[in-house]
Amino acid sequence: MNTSQGRLAQHWVAFKENRAECRLCPRHCRPKDNRMGFCGVRGTVNGEIQTFNFGQSLAATEEIIETEAVNHFAPGARILSMGNVGCMMACSFCQNWETSQTQHLDYQMVRQYTPEQLVAMCLENQIPVISWTYNDPVVWHEFVIETSKLAQQNGIKTLYKSAFYIEEEPVKELLECIDIFSLSLKSLNDEFYRKQTKARLQPVLDRIRQVAASGKYLELSQLVIPELNDSDEDVEQTIDWVLENVGADVPLHFVAFHPAYQYTHVERTDIATLKRARDLALKKGMKYVYLGNTHEPDLNDTICQKCGTTLIKRYGLHSSVESLDKKSCCTQCGEQSPILYPLLSTENISKPQAGAQKPDLKKQLEIHWSDEAQSAHILQLGGTGEKDTLTIHSIGINKLIRKQLSAGLDRFILSRQSADETGVVIYWDSDCEYQNLAVLDRAHYPTNFSDASNTSDQEIRFLDLT
Ligand code: SF4
Repeated sequence: MNTSQGRLAQHWVAFKENRAECRLCPRHCRPKDNRMGFCGVRGTVNGEIQTFNFGQSLAATEEIIETEAVNHFAPGARILSMGNVGCMMACSFCQNWETSQTQHLDYQMVRQYTPEQLVAMCLENQIPVISWTYNDPVVWHEFVIETSKLAQQNGIKTLYKSAFYIEEEPVKELLECIDIFSLSLKSLNDEFYRKQTKARLQPVLDRIRQVAASGKYLELSQLVIPELNDSDEDVEQTIDWVLENVGADVPLHFVAFHPAYQYTHVERTDIATLKRARDLALKKGMKYVYLGNTHEPDLNDTICQKCGTTLIKRYGLHSSVESLDKKSCCTQCGEQSPILYPLLSTENISKPQAGAQKPDLKKQLEIHWSDEAQSAHILQLGGTGEKDTLTIHSIGINKLIRKQLSAGLDRFILSRQSADETGVVIYWDSDCEYQNLAVLDRAHYPTNFSDASNTSDQEIRFLDLT
């Protein structure tokens, strides 16, 4: 462990001389001196628990709010997705195992940000929401709290996407500075949690109830994994618990799984299984049920509960407000919808121009969508975050948008907008170079890029796990 980079953590108690117990998550690790806890990013130094990942982050990435299984808050809003490293769980099926499990981490990917830098990045790029996501924000608690408070002071909304294996006291702090909670419930089976995630079920249920009782904005999701939690009985248990403890109005997402980490012997979750889960939930009385990581027409739209009008139309990660006024009422019957901030600004990406001519710019990067990958992260190589302007042409629907990158933002998502869009071409004129990485599913942070120059002069190796 490189003890020089630690910082005194919150949520721990001393229990005997030179020993301390971390109380951030229910695991209550008691690392010996100069050793890390289970998550790999908090450890004991001189009898105190320190956090070693304050400000240590994967590259900030501009995405869309729907990547976070959030469908009823500012549809289509751009978000600044922030992920760090380590996790308080160890799911056999983890979709972000290369960053959540520190033994697999490529330290060249880790950058250093301050709360002020991230807030400036949001403001300069007109990104209205900062999202704590990917590996799991629980183990980044101190940085999340400090940055979220600063973000809110600057008018930026804050989003927390988590498996929520966390203690009650830290959640009280989150409730003071997080606007949107997107929480995943993996199963209603404690044995599943113990075997497949190395965590336990009850604390997760208790903390979800804590958020629900607070009245904070909440959406729930369950990753549906073949042979693990995809039976009708599994799904019904989840639905029954949600109905009883959170209510029928909470948006519930059943999310398709792609084979990953130690769970690769199965296929991607089939659409029939997801549809069956959706039908069961609707039959039992859930009002808003969505199917994540799918491109099924109509199944992910938000419908007016009174007159059946389509309020929000969705394709993959894209959404368009169809029939909502500024007060979020149905334009057909006037019924109040559950959508908050339906028209939150998404400026800085120019409005698409139909039929526009392809630009005459010297460099280009072409991406074709496949069944496997219908989104991509676009990375500016070098890791220095050069200011740049890109023009993006949608193949098949012949639309152009112009996109600006500034304040160090050098990574963003592009996602298929419709069945007719077969790919995109990115054009630019600057000296920058760009690369794309396939995003397999929402909230997936693809790695393995060839950005060798990002090793640079930064001291980014912050843990010595040997
Ligand atoms: S946050 Fe990390 S060190 Fe603390 S109890 Fe959880 S796994 Fe252990």
